[in-house]
Amino acid sequence: MAARIIDGQALAKSMQAGFAARVAELRKGGTEPGLAAILVGDDPASAVYVGRKMKACAAVGIRSFAERLPSTISNTELLGRIVELNSDPHTHGILVQLPLPPHIDMARVLKTISAEKDVDGFHLYNVGGLVTGSTVFSPCTPYGVVKLLEHENIPIEGQNVVVVGASNIVGKPMGLMLMARDATVSICHAKTRDLAQYTILADILVVAAGVPNLIVSQMVKSGAVVIDVGINRLPDGRIIGDVDFEGVRTKASAITPVPGGVGPMTVAMLLENTIKSAERKLALRI
Ligand code: NAD
Repeated sequence: MAARIIDGQALAKSMQAGFAARVAELRKGGTEPGLAAILVGDDPASAVYVGRKMKACAAVGIRSFAERLPSTISNTELLGRIVELNSDPHTHGILVQLPLPPHIDMARVLKTISAEKDVDGFHLYNVGGLVTGSTVFSPCTPYGVVKLLEHENIPIEGQNVVVVGASNIVGKPMGLMLMARDATVSICHAKTRDLAQYTILADILVVAAGVPNLIVSQMVKSGAVVIDVGINRLPDGRIIGDVDFEGVRTKASAITPVPGGVGPMTVAMLLENTIKSAERKLALRI
């Protein structure tokens, strides 16, 4: 039996009207939600991602502006610009597109963004909040995965979840967010011995390793839900995920495609966080 395809593109699109209505409400009250996207250097993929985010903002009425800074910028200059944006009342969300040039102290950059404007959810306060259940902004990609699972009515509580990939921006927060929803979570990574012995137990398998075709059907339990976060560009220009989609779809009960699965949900959650930030500011008068 072929798996149901989980259409992240469609869900992200269906959320647009709700976002636009919230933005209209904010505007009525005199607040124009604003997002600053800082792009350091000229990495073409990063420019594409920032462009997509800005287009999505425009579609729902969020004012966004990209700050294109040269790759030669110093740590002090970059931190100074973030500090300025932290106190700009018209900026409700600040994102710094990763990766950053090697001379930039990424941890310091992420820590400098005000936790109140940290719409990517990478600030230590928000990361810590994932552990205690008090986060203000959840990181967009794992948040998008949770929304997809909820929308598809896929139960999380009590399920065996295996997350492949343990990065700070996807794998680890993904594990914490699913643990907070009472899943039993295993997190695997590049040093995990015999990956398949874990993946085969997963009721829900989330893969975020950045390795094309890492997961093949023999590694997947019959009827599992498979969420492919990976984005890999092949030499011929095609984009594929980390899962052998054609092989695994015959075994899984539901699967996300790449592209069109998790990617659009990541952008949708950025809009959600930016609107939430503006709403909080209004409610808390901060
Ligand atoms: P990363 O390189 O920071 O982390 C990769 C993780 O995968 C590490 O923990 C590493 O140990 C693990 N890993 C690598 N090879 C492995 C292997 N053979 N077996 C098991 N684990 C292995 O990457 P990241 O930033 O977490 O991104 C992961 C993937 O997700 C990339 O393809 C990235 O492009 C994609 N991504 C997609 C979105 C989206 O919106 N869809 C967002 C962020 C990242």
